Amino acid sequence: MTSAFAKELAQHISDNGPITVADYMSACLQHYYATVPAIGTAGDFTTAPEISQMFGEMLGAWLVDIWMQSGRPDNAQYVELGPGRGTLAADVLRVFAGAGLKPPVHLVETSPEMRRLQKEKLQGHDVTWHDTFDTVPAGFSLIAANEFFDALPVHQYIDDTERRVHWDQGRGFYADPVPKGEKIVESSPVSCAIADTLARHVQNGGAALIIDYGYAAGEKGETLQAVSRHRYASVFDNPGAQDITAHVDFAALARVMSPYAFVLGPVGQGDFLQRLGMTQRAEALTRHANDSQKKDIQTALFRLVAPSEMGQLFKVMGVLPKQNNLNPAGFADAEIQNNRHRQNSTG
Ligand code: SAH
Repeated sequence: MTSAFAKELAQHISDNGPITVADYMSACLQHYYATVPAIGTAGDFTTAPEISQMFGEMLGAWLVDIWMQSGRPDNAQYVELGPGRGTLAADVLRVFAGAGLKPPVHLVETSPEMRRLQKEKLQGHDVTWHDTFDTVPAGFSLIAANEFFDALPVHQYIDDTERRVHWDQGRGFYADPVPKGEKIVESSPVSCAIADTLARHVQNGGAALIIDYGYAAGEKGETLQAVSRHRYASVFDNPGAQDITAHVDFAALARVMSPYAFVLGPVGQGDFLQRLGMTQRAEALTRHANDSQKKDIQTALFRLVAPSEMGQLFKVMGVLPKQNNLNPAGFADAEIQNNRHRQNSTG
C-alpha cells in the first residue's frame, strides 16, 4: 500500500532526478510530524518525558537552580525546541512555579498537529510558537531540547560525494550503494546553524540543556535509522509514515557553540539524572504509591538511568554564558574544570 505522500515523492524524483539523503529525511519527517501524533506508548516511539514526570522535574530543577544562582532575573523566559506532546514543558513549568517562576513560554515547533497537542497541555501558560529559533525574543532564556537535534536532517557522503536517494518502479526508494571498504560520513549543517543561534542567545544570559542520543567524539559512520511501532525499520520503507532519526554529533555542536558559550559535557543521561537526585525523587514518589504504581516508578527509573537502557546512549550537554560564576548541578566538578580549562586555552 503506497501513501499519497510516497507517490508524490516518487513522482518528484522521477521528474527531477535523485534527491539528497538530507532532503529525503526532511521531506519524510515534515510529513510524519504533520500527520501523526507519533510519540508515546500508542505511537511509534516513546521519549524520556513520556516515560516519567521525573525526567522533566530533574531538568526543571537544573534550570531553575541556574535562574536562582543568576539572581532571579525577572525577564526570564522558558524556551523549548521540538516540544512534542508538551509533556516536558508541563513538568518543567510545574517545578518553576514551585520556585516562584511563571515565565512566558516560547516553543519552536514546525508541526501544526504537535502545536495543537502542546496548546492543550499548556493551558494557563503564556505560550508563543515559532517556526525557527531566530524569532525567539532576546532575554534571559532557560532552554530545553530533548530529542530535537536527532530529528534534523543529515547529509551523507561517500568519499566526498553526497549520497542520494533514487526511486524506480521495481525497487521503490533506495540510496546510492556504499562500495566495499568505503565509509559513510554524516554531517548536519542545520543542527550546527541552530546550535550557533542557541549559543549566541545564551551568551546574553540563561542556560540550555540539550539531551539526545548520539556520540561524544569522532565519526560513527551511518547512524540514520527508522522506528515504527517501537521497532527498527528500513529508512526507505513507508516514507513519511515512520520516524527517521540520526545520532547527534555532540562534538560538532560543541565546536560551533564554544566561541560564544561555555559548553558542558556531554555526560550520560543516567549520571546526570542521578546527580540531580532522581533516585531520591523516585523514593519520595514511591512513599505515596500503591504496589502497581511503585513498580511503574521503579521501571521508569531503570529505563531512564540504566546504562543498558537510556542511561548511556542518551547524553546531556549544558550550555552557559561564557563568563559565568555559576555552579551548575549534574555535571561532575572535574568535567566543569576540564571544560573551563579547555575553553579558556582554545579561546
Ligand atoms: N521533545 C519531545 C519530542 C521529540 S520529537 C519529546 O521528548 O517527547 C521531535 C519534535 O521536534 C516534534 O515535536 C517535531 O514536530 C519537532 N520538529 C521536528 N523538526 C523540527 C524543526 N525543524 N523545527 C522545529 N521543530 C521540529
